[in-house]
Amino acid sequence: TVRVRIAPSPTGNLHIGTARTAVFNWLFARHHGGTFIVRVEDTDLERSRPEYTENILTGLRWLGLNWDEGPFFQSQRLDLYRAAVEKLLEQKLAYRCYTTSEELEVLRETQKAKGEAPRYDNRHRNLTPEEEAAYQAAGRSFVIRFKIADDREIVWNDLVRGSMSWQGGDLGGDMVIARASEDGIGQPLYNFVVVVDDIDMQITHVIRGEDHIANTAKQILLYEALGAKIPDFAHTPLILNMEGRKLSKRDGVTSISEFQQMGFTAEGLVNYMTLLGWSPPDSTQEIFTLETAAKEFTFERVNKAGAKFDWAKLDWLNSQYLHNMPTDKLTDLLIPYWQAAGYQFDKGRERPWLEELVTLISQSLTRLVDAVAMSQLFFTETVEFSEEASQQLKQEGSSVVLQAILTALENQPQLSEAIAQDIIKQVVKEQKVKKGLAMRSLRAALTGDVHGPDLIQSWLLLNQINLDNLRLTKAI
Ligand code: GLU
Repeated sequence: TVRVRIAPSPTGNLHIGTARTAVFNWLFARHHGGTFIVRVEDTDLERSRPEYTENILTGLRWLGLNWDEGPFFQSQRLDLYRAAVEKLLEQKLAYRCYTTSEELEVLRETQKAKGEAPRYDNRHRNLTPEEEAAYQAAGRSFVIRFKIADDREIVWNDLVRGSMSWQGGDLGGDMVIARASEDGIGQPLYNFVVVVDDIDMQITHVIRGEDHIANTAKQILLYEALGAKIPDFAHTPLILNMEGRKLSKRDGVTSISEFQQMGFTAEGLVNYMTLLGWSPPDSTQEIFTLETAAKEFTFERVNKAGAKFDWAKLDWLNSQYLHNMPTDKLTDLLIPYWQAAGYQFDKGRERPWLEELVTLISQSLTRLVDAVAMSQLFFTETVEFSEEASQQLKQEGSSVVLQAILTALENQPQLSEAIAQDIIKQVVKEQKVKKGLAMRSLRAALTGDVHGPDLIQSWLLLNQINLDNLRLTKAI
């Protein structure tokens, strides 16, 4: 049975790249009825922060990427890793290396001068017990290195990239699997710990970003050394910016919580990430929930090439979810944005009124945050007139029409759609003006602008909170 994991490092907020990898893991697990595991890789104690862990787990949950096991924390599993280091030391597959950083620096410089790629020259691979004792007596600290044979060819069949091969000699020499520590076993490092965990958690498919390809070559050797079955690997394409370079902090928004603050829905964002490197068998289908995508998800349809991040497409998908969302749910999602903008829910702006407002603007929303600007006129007493609106109000007949509407309103405090239509009809007839003029002037007076949401519905909403007469009076 399929067992996969997402293994975020809590050294930053949940990144879009990690989230997309999590989506693919989730889809693959669900497609096969397998198990999806979350493992927090907090071995780098200096850079790991609990608030990042919190952000990552909250983000995964928000996206709907529910997990079956975990979260596990590497910081709580140190004994396991150390036992594995000891095993490799005993089997002489790993050794203590006392080369100092100064010596390594000299080595690097020499290699550089000769135009060679930097690599450790394995000089401490076969120290005699006497040599070791001498280094220890001299008070040198050490790292633990795992032996990598230069002539070893490492091959695997990548589920995305096909047949892959790597030469042992290209891996930088014997690899460091643990750093110095007081008690002589060492502090295990990422590339090693990952393998120990993936073995222990019986991971069948390692699905991660293509920036880990070189690590995979090293890790395959570790699986062998630890006597474990090698899992399948799938390296997912990078996410690129519009210029075709790897999406980075410089591109602005990269963390899931930022996308959330900007007003993307979990459904829209997860749908977008699903299509970021994967294409469905029916390429015309673009709207996917996680569940529907899981039915169709296979690695055959994951691209090798990097996936360009396309804001326009994300916006379009997001708008689809907003336009089709039940009013009740959309209202819940919008309230925090209005609150953040300082809007008050008083003077008649209760839930039913809010839901009418949501109905009025929902089809114009691309991001949730758009609702702030779109509904500002419903949360403030007065409006500022745009240049065009001022012009409109200066047009001949405008004041007369508005005055007539105001008078009609005095006898009709409780407006309905039919009554509103009727008032306009009457005024147009009595004042002998064009309906267009009446409508444009009314809009300018009520909303301060010459375009916007449905005029009659806007009027009804303003009427419910007694702002229509106030606005009309100001505009005349
Ligand atoms: N902690 C690693 C990362 O965040 C995990 C890599 C892996 O999935 O093995 O990139």
